[in-house]
Amino acid sequence: MRAQPPASHFIDGEYIEDPAGAAFDCVYPATGEVIARLHAATPAIIERAIASAKAAQVEWAKMSPTARGRILKRAADIMRAKNRELSELETLDTGKPIQETIVADPTSGADAFEFFGGVAAAALNGEHIPLGGDWAYTKRIPLGVCVGIGAWNYPQQIACWKGAPALICGNAMVFKPSENTPLGALKIAEILIEAGLPKGLYNVIQGDRATGPQLVNHPDVNKVSLTGSVPTGRKVAEAAAGHLKHVTMELGGKSPLIVFDDADIDSAISGSMLANFYSTGQVCSNGTRVFVHKAVKDEFLARLKARTEAIVIGEPMDEATQMGPVINRAQREKILSYIDKGKAEGARLITGGAIPNDVPAEGNYIQPTVFADVTDDMTIAREEIFGPVMCVLDFDGEEDVVARANASEFGLAGGVFTKDIARAHRMADQIEAGTFWINTYNLCPVEIPFGGVKQSGFGRENSLAAINHYSELKTVYVAMGKCEAPY
Ligand code: NAD
Repeated sequence: MRAQPPASHFIDGEYIEDPAGAAFDCVYPATGEVIARLHAATPAIIERAIASAKAAQVEWAKMSPTARGRILKRAADIMRAKNRELSELETLDTGKPIQETIVADPTSGADAFEFFGGVAAAALNGEHIPLGGDWAYTKRIPLGVCVGIGAWNYPQQIACWKGAPALICGNAMVFKPSENTPLGALKIAEILIEAGLPKGLYNVIQGDRATGPQLVNHPDVNKVSLTGSVPTGRKVAEAAAGHLKHVTMELGGKSPLIVFDDADIDSAISGSMLANFYSTGQVCSNGTRVFVHKAVKDEFLARLKARTEAIVIGEPMDEATQMGPVINRAQREKILSYIDKGKAEGARLITGGAIPNDVPAEGNYIQPTVFADVTDDMTIAREEIFGPVMCVLDFDGEEDVVARANASEFGLAGGVFTKDIARAHRMADQIEAGTFWINTYNLCPVEIPFGGVKQSGFGRENSLAAINHYSELKTVYVAMGKCEAPY
């Protein structure tokens, strides 16, 4: 098998197998080929992963943040040196084209290790609070054992975006990747050991929706960070609430992207395509509701159609391929059923909507698809499709488009294309979203906070904001005089 790891899990610095766990296949989405066969974690594996993390965390928390940061920065260097190998693995794991993974996956994971490794020396400082004689100080303390649970679309990035801030704050992490993409996180665990991370601090275990709750409910786990769908988020948050655990929820979206009539149309089309077709549309923050001003709609659609039909679909390992398959057959069926609903509910199919020619029958390919004349009440305008399906809606008034853009249970992201600087900032102010882009879309460098509002979740990843979600404050009050009491 092309990508078989030495064993399914990585615990306490080494690969470990428990064949008693349910066997599952890792399938290359482009061909249907089985590239690895793994086992889900048994209760014994879960116990071992959490016990080793708990034990290792005690000494790790005593190290200076600078020393912890040095190890993460070394991990970043190793990831960059191994970018080609890691990108190929990411492509096998997800089916995303190598053209994307080589610039967006291990590199963004390395950025997280470098950023958090670099800020560690200053970002964990506390405060001195003068109280007129008495005084107080605050300390940032780690949470303990943190669990990370990943989605399938960015397996290496998610493993690093959760691992880097968790580790730098002095925690240990047990990470469970998506059962669809189990391979990348194992390599991240290996690299962290190579970089000098003490064993046990970053353990990876495999499993699915039956495994996740065992991690979330474990009494020695103090925090859970999930990247996944809204229904999974509700279940995980509910389970965590039973133990009052800390949670970060990075969930789904149906984000609006608004194109005004003064926009640079080429740039707006580029933004809309990035917002719908990158990673074959499997991006949580995608701007899948593209509101286009009526005055430029026809021009926008004509040029969009031509550019969409020129997208090179094919074997993801081929450097020329711009779009690969979606993750699995079930996801493709789901996307095709949304396309059928779009047609049935009266949306106008501009391009795509079918399975492309000249791709392997066992691959999960689907054409990049654009619908126009989409209205707010249509299923394709309300529900997250998680595939390459762009919905174009018309508008002609600013107030109207703001109200319609906000009429969604989700609030992950949003964007605007306009040359009017005041209007751009009015939109940024009014659209309900965790991240908003002006004249671009979906750029998420590690320096900026990322996360959702409304049903898209809470908590933030990346930037200094993530430190707040992997540590808590201890306040120490210092009395300088005698303790007075009224008794
Ligand atoms: P999913 O919700 O099906 O699964 C996510 C993870 O949760 C998987 O590892 C799964 O095994 C695990 N899981 C499922 N049920 C669980 C439970 N009850 N307890 C604990 N763990 C459980 O999501 P997916 O289909 O893998 O990913 C697609 C979804 O993720 C989309 O909705 C997408 O928008 C969202 N997503 C969000 C972000 C973000 O940062 N906001 C990023 C990527 C993906």
